[in-house]
Amino acid sequence: MPADFPDFRLGTELATSFTATLTERQGEAVERIPTPQRLIDWLTVSGLAVDSCTTAQLELARQLRESIHAAATAAATHDTPPAAAVRIINDRSIRGRAAAVLTPESTRQWRLSSPSSVVDALGVIAADAISIIAGERDGKLALCASPTCRAAFFDTSQSRTRKWCDMNTCGNRQKKARFTANQRKNPRSAK
Ligand SMILES: [Zn+2]
Repeated sequence: MPADFPDFRLGTELATSFTATLTERQGEAVERIPTPQRLIDWLTVSGLAVDSCTTAQLELARQLRESIHAAATAAATHDTPPAAAVRIINDRSIRGRAAAVLTPESTRQWRLSSPSSVVDALGVIAADAISIIAGERDGKLALCASPTCRAAFFDTSQSRTRKWCDMNTCGNRQKKARFTANQRKNPRSAK
């Protein structure tokens, strides 16, 4: 039986889904890719399937992830991204040799140069991060309103006023916390 690992939080954008493999960065952090196998699982559900991953490659992935998080956070707050983070994102992008191919159903698929090329998969993620951070896509980087989270997420809502990285987790928790606080202030009104 596989060990019980935390579920993935998959969003619609590759780069921010990837940064969401570590959640609650400002609270009790939850590592959602704790082992190389979990990175393989995440890449598979994200359309970047690889057949193997070493501990060193998992380290590279986490380094890229935290660099994207740092650069995206800076972009969301209109700061200059840290130079070290930019260097790592660029390195990963340059080293990736994945190719986009068009399927008969007119969808895009990524083809890695070899089935074991974690480096190619990371290159695709880095390039996705670059397009988001550079403002090439329709949407806006913002920080989750949850004080224990503060994840950078890509807001594609029409009004660009999304507050939480994820409605089902951070959004819900916030709503519950507000409800409990109201009950405490006003015990009689809450039946
Ligand atoms: Zn959040």
